Amino acid sequence: MTSPLRARAPRIRGARALFTGRAGGVSTGEHAGLNLARHVGDDAQAVEENRARVAAEIGAPLVFVEQVHSADVHVLPAQDAGPGRGTGPAGEPGPVVRADAIVTDRTDVALAIMVADCLPVLLSDPVAGVVAVAHAGRRGLLDGVLEATLSEMAALGARPADVTASIGPSICGACYEVPEQMREDAAAHLPVTASRTSWGTPALDLRAGAVSVLQDAGVPAEAIDADHPCTLEDERFFSYRRSAVTGRFAGVLRRG
Ligand SMILES: [Zn+2]
Repeated sequence: MTSPLRARAPRIRGARALFTGRAGGVSTGEHAGLNLARHVGDDAQAVEENRARVAAEIGAPLVFVEQVHSADVHVLPAQDAGPGRGTGPAGEPGPVVRADAIVTDRTDVALAIMVADCLPVLLSDPVAGVVAVAHAGRRGLLDGVLEATLSEMAALGARPADVTASIGPSICGACYEVPEQMREDAAAHLPVTASRTSWGTPALDLRAGAVSVLQDAGVPAEAIDADHPCTLEDERFFSYRRSAVTGRFAGVLRRG
């Protein structure tokens, strides 16, 4: 039987991966379920229990970063250097690196990226044995977080032509309403992001933007899995647009 922690199965090669949802956790109230974020006002012990459950499911300690809507990428130190910075084994508080993507060729840790409407992007080059996770919101996507992540993967031997990608549950182009000016600014960088809500107002389609960025960088179209639910419409996932006080779910991936 599939674990309730696995809300969605990414289609990706060379890695074990999952997208969590709200099911399977111990948080209550506005964070009810499997909230994985420490910074959102949830009970700390509940968050650690939730993180431990996900670590057990993926079979390795989770590494998180402090996400700040940047294009900064954290490349994990080599395996013999120990867990290094970043959050160590699940439940173990530690200094956390500020970044919005994590890259590694290690097999002994799982990378985790937290979201609630933004795009959780998982990347894996099964040939080179290099994996990454990225948090791509509007700012990070436009500032080049995905290009920066692919660049750090390449430094470890990955090639875009071999990369497989999964863009997980996130707010869709028919729901992500933004001011007209914001749509224009985004479209000036990434034309495919220009969208319209189902109620007729200006919107952004960040998922289409991410697909476009990955393809422009050389990732084959057929290697990109973007068929996942909209977080605003699907209550199995946390959505910041639905409720400003809410939890975070995660894209989690481990090389192998
Ligand atoms: Zn939607």
